[in-house]
Amino acid sequence: MSESPSTHSTQRFDVILIGGGIMSTTLGAILKELQPDWNIALFEKLDGAGQESSDPWNNAGTGHTAYCELNYTPRGTDGSISTAKACGIADQFHVSRQLWSHWVNEGVLGSPRTFINALPHISFVWGEKNSKYLRDRYQAMRAEPLFAHIEHTEDPDTVGRWAPLLARGRDNSTPVAASRFQDGTDVDFGSVSRQLAGHLDAQGVDLRYSHEVSGLTRGADGRWDMKVKNTASGEKFSASARFVFVGAGGGALSLLQSSGIEEIKGFGGFPVSGQFLRTTESAITEEHHAKVYGLASVGAPPMSVPHLDTRFVDGRRSLMFGPFAGFSTNFLKAGSYFDLPLSVRPHNLVPMLQVGAANTSLVTYLMKEVAKTHKKKVEALRDFYPQAHQGQWELITAGQRVQVMKKNEDGKGVLQFGTELIAAADGSIAGLLGASPGASTAPSIMFKLLERCFPGQMESWKSRLENMVPSYGRLLNDDPKLLEEVSAATAETLQLEP
Ligand SMILES: Cc1cc2nc3c(=O)[nH]c(=O)nc-3n(C[C@H](O)[C@H](O)[C@H](O)COP(=O)(O)OP(=O)(O)OC[C@H]3O[C@@H](n4cnc5c(N)ncnc54)[C@H](O)[C@@H]3O)c2cc1C
Repeated sequence: MSESPSTHSTQRFDVILIGGGIMSTTLGAILKELQPDWNIALFEKLDGAGQESSDPWNNAGTGHTAYCELNYTPRGTDGSISTAKACGIADQFHVSRQLWSHWVNEGVLGSPRTFINALPHISFVWGEKNSKYLRDRYQAMRAEPLFAHIEHTEDPDTVGRWAPLLARGRDNSTPVAASRFQDGTDVDFGSVSRQLAGHLDAQGVDLRYSHEVSGLTRGADGRWDMKVKNTASGEKFSASARFVFVGAGGGALSLLQSSGIEEIKGFGGFPVSGQFLRTTESAITEEHHAKVYGLASVGAPPMSVPHLDTRFVDGRRSLMFGPFAGFSTNFLKAGSYFDLPLSVRPHNLVPMLQVGAANTSLVTYLMKEVAKTHKKKVEALRDFYPQAHQGQWELITAGQRVQVMKKNEDGKGVLQFGTELIAAADGSIAGLLGASPGASTAPSIMFKLLERCFPGQMESWKSRLENMVPSYGRLLNDDPKLLEEVSAATAETLQLEP
């Protein structure tokens, strides 16, 4: 039964979504389709959607398909290359492609060119040891249906044809190797968020920008109550809902902590800020048409993997290189320096200290990164693009990542680089922590959330979910025929044919 918001002094909803990034807007659009009668509100503290981590310049825009990201295919202790994580991420990205295609067909999202562009994904390494790793990875990947179309070369001329900037001026005495997928993508997650927010508005969702949520408490009736402040007018009011999604990005940890749910105990956050080098000079951008990912340097965390990417934002083409890590105690770009200290609780202090003690290499890495000058950053770029000129590249500040710190099974604090879905046991509240693979897999994460929080509805929603995502509930790597069908259909709808 749907709630009427106007009959109580507290504004009442079936569902409240906190935050207007890719996660909340994706969940809102899915819920509106599954349950159009539910009364939904979305509160976003900034004056528009998709302006924090989902903004195209705050992230790298990689449609993470595990095509080029070498941290998803580690070498195991027995020497073999594990493809398990890569298969999981590729499968999830196919879910995203299917849902976005469905929304393009339904007019929820506009022309595919406004948010997704076909772009080859290339892994590129140099040196004997790294070339051997990439060759072994190629052999392991081509055995998986999801990755059977991988191409590989150790010929410098072929590398030069795939990505001219990589080869020009390179010392050919060092061996190089590259693997390529032609069907990779660059995605503007800010555009997806804003288009979905516009759709929610048109569907009658109570969409309020410049509205900041604080203090979540459980009412005696089992509903979640929260304080909301209109930051433009200063007006304050209370709102309540049967279900709350805390899609507040870096703001999620403190909101989930304020709810007092058991499931958030022991979790902490470690903020890592980022910068990219960017150029819009057409003489350079027109010579590179790929996302080229390398290997992270020794001791560096997985999110520091350097990459040289073509980007398509607002119809303009540019090149971006990075990320370079930095340190700030903010959990959001538009956050506060007190975010980190205020997130410390008796239940997460020990795990956080243990993470600090166990990750001295990360601390050393961050200190070195913070000390890097613009000149040093361009020198790092020259590993990929030997003829790069400092004056042609500007530094831009990316979004804040809040890496998850949590207790492992032995009760010890560990640092985690993935995305963590936190949901109360009764499914009345859920939120997301962490960053990677992040926005690319938002639809799969939201489907997982539905399964955790709405188990009673899943049967009645099943046919609509399968209409949105034809492969829903099935693994594409186990079903090559279905993989071929959904790849072809989504490539056509999203205009991704190379
Ligand atoms: C440097 C960097 C590179 C990345 N590269 C990639 C990539 O290449 N590919 C990829 O898939 N992912 C990438 N990611 C991850 C991706 O950006 C995130 O996973 C994704 O954008 C998170 O979306 P979100 O909706 O959870 O958060 P956000 O987009 O941050 O949205 C959260 C929203 O909540 C609002 N909010 C916060 N607190 C409150 C409050 N109290 N009340 C109301 N509103 C609030 C914020 O203003 C914000 O708009 C990258 C991230 C970073 C930082």
